[in-house]
Amino acid sequence: MSKDNTDSEPDSADDADNSTAARDRSATSTNLDFDTMFDDSSDESQGLFDDLLSSEPIFENKEVLRPSYTPHELPHRTDQINQMATILVSALRGDTPSNILIYGKTGTGKTASAKFVSQELESTSQKYDVPCEVEYINCEVTDTQYRVLAQLANKFIEKNQARIESTIETLEEVRDYLESTDPDPISVSEGHSNKAAADEAAEIVSRAGEYRTVAAVDAEIDSLAADLDELEPVPMTGWPTDRVYSTFFEAVDYHERVVVIMLDEIDKLVEKSGDDTLYNLSRMNSELTNSRISIMGISNDLKFTDFLDPRVKSSLGEEEIVFPPYDATQLRDILQHRADVAFKSEALTSDVIPLCAAFAAQEHGDARRALDLLRTAGELAERSQADLIEETHVRQAQDKIELDRVVEVVRTLPTQSKIVLFSIILLEKNGVHNINTGEVFNIYKRLCEEIDADVLTQRRVTDLISELDMLGIVNAVVVSKGRYGRTKEMNLSVPIDETEAVLLSDSRLGDIENVKPFVQARFDNE
Ligand code: ADP
Ligand code: MG
Repeated sequence: MSKDNTDSEPDSADDADNSTAARDRSATSTNLDFDTMFDDSSDESQGLFDDLLSSEPIFENKEVLRPSYTPHELPHRTDQINQMATILVSALRGDTPSNILIYGKTGTGKTASAKFVSQELESTSQKYDVPCEVEYINCEVTDTQYRVLAQLANKFIEKNQARIESTIETLEEVRDYLESTDPDPISVSEGHSNKAAADEAAEIVSRAGEYRTVAAVDAEIDSLAADLDELEPVPMTGWPTDRVYSTFFEAVDYHERVVVIMLDEIDKLVEKSGDDTLYNLSRMNSELTNSRISIMGISNDLKFTDFLDPRVKSSLGEEEIVFPPYDATQLRDILQHRADVAFKSEALTSDVIPLCAAFAAQEHGDARRALDLLRTAGELAERSQADLIEETHVRQAQDKIELDRVVEVVRTLPTQSKIVLFSIILLEKNGVHNINTGEVFNIYKRLCEEIDADVLTQRRVTDLISELDMLGIVNAVVVSKGRYGRTKEMNLSVPIDETEAVLLSDSRLGDIENVKPFVQARFDNE
C-alpha cells in the first residue's frame, strides 16, 4: 500500500480497545472529512483548542515529513542521480537521450530522484535557451493508453498555444514597428531601458528585417491564428485511439525540441493495459521530423519487462538504473536530514530515529515508511501532550500504520471476499479454531442468501481464501484428512474487532448484523 492513509485517520490508537466506537466511526464515512477539517481550523478556534495550543508543539514544520514534499537533497542517491544526468545531458545538446528504465522497490527514492533531475534539466534548458521539455505522468493514476496519450497531447497543445499566442503578440509589434515612421526601436517597447525590453526591441527590429513588409507579417499572423484554431484538446474519452495518437504526434512535432517523457509506476500501466502505449511511444522517433522523444520508465516491479514485447523491452531498456533498498544506516541519515527541519530542537530522544530506521529497514528499506513512522510518532506524542517523542511513540506508530494498512486492504476487497472474510470472523468469534473450508462455506452461503448476493461455488470460495491468505489477512494451511481428501484450515491474522468494523461499514454488509442470532443459533444446536 503506497498510499498515505495516516493523515486523515482518526486516532485509532485510542479506540483500539473499544470495538463499538471503532464501528460507529467507520460506519459514517463523513467522519474522516470531519477530522481533517478539525485539524485545519484549529488555529482559528477558541476555547476548545486552548489546551492543545498551550502545550509546547513538537513540530517546527510537519510538511517536510509528508510524501508530497520533494526534498532538495537526496542523500545516498548521488550515484543514481548522476547516472540519470549523464544520460539526459544529451537533451541539452539537442540530441536524443537513450531511453532509461529505473527499477527499485517502493520507497527507494525513485520518484523523488526523477523529479529532482527533471527540475534541474528544465531549469538548465531555460538557462541556455535550448528547447528541452520534461513531461511527468503517474501511470498509477493515468493507467490506459488513451489517457496517457490524451494527457500528453493536451500538455503539448497547451504549450503550443502559449507559444503561438506569444509569437503573435511579437508579430503584432513588428507590424506596428514597420507601420510606424519612428526609426527608434526602443520606443517600440514603450521606452523601457532594462535589458529584457532592449532584447525584445532588438528582436522586433531583427524580425522586421526578415519580413520587410506589413503584408508579409500579416500573412504570418493569419497562418499562426489558423494553427491556433486547429488546436483542439483531446476529450478524456470518446475518440478513437489512433486519432488521439496522431493529435499527440502533431502537437509534439509542432516545433523543434527534445522531450523526455517520464512514466512513473510504468508497471501499473503495463499490468492494466498491456504494452501498446510503450510500443507506440518507442517507435515515434523514426517518424517525427522536428522533435525527438526519450522515455524514462520507472517501475516498482523488478520483473515487469518479462511481460513486454521483446522490441519494446530492448528499446525501453537501453539504459537501466537500479535503486537498491536503503539499509538502516542510510535511513538514519535520511531521517536525520528531515528531522532537523521538521521538529523543534531537542524534541526527540536519541533512540527515536534509529528505531524508525530499523523498522523501515525490515520493511524492505522503505524511506516512505521510515518518514511515515517518524511523522506518526510525532503526531502521537503531540496528541498525548508529551514534551518529547520517545521510543514508545515509535512503537505505537508502527502498530497504527500496520492497522491502517489492514483497514485499507479490507476496505477495498471485492464484496464476495468481504463475505468470505466475514464468515471467518463469525466463526472465530464463536470460538472455532483451525476453521476449515467447509465451515466457512456453510456460513458464507447463508450470508449470501441474507443479503441477496450470488453464491459462488465452494471451489471459488477456496480461491478467495487463498487470496486473503496472500494479502496476509488470514493464515491458511492445507491439511490432509486421509481418505477424506484435503482441506484448508485457517485463522484470522489481523485484529478481529477492527476488521469486523471495516466490513460492517460496507453498505451491503451493514445489514449482516441481523444475521448474528441465526449464526449463534447454529452453533448452539451443534
Ligand atoms: P519511490 O518512488 O521509489 O517509491 P519516493 O521517491 O516516493 O520512492 O520516496 C519515498 C519517500 O522517501 C519520499 O517522501 C521521498 O522524499 C523520501 N526519500 C526517498 N529517498 C530519499 C533520500 N535519499 N533522501 C531524502 N528523502 C528520500
Ligand atoms: Mg514512486
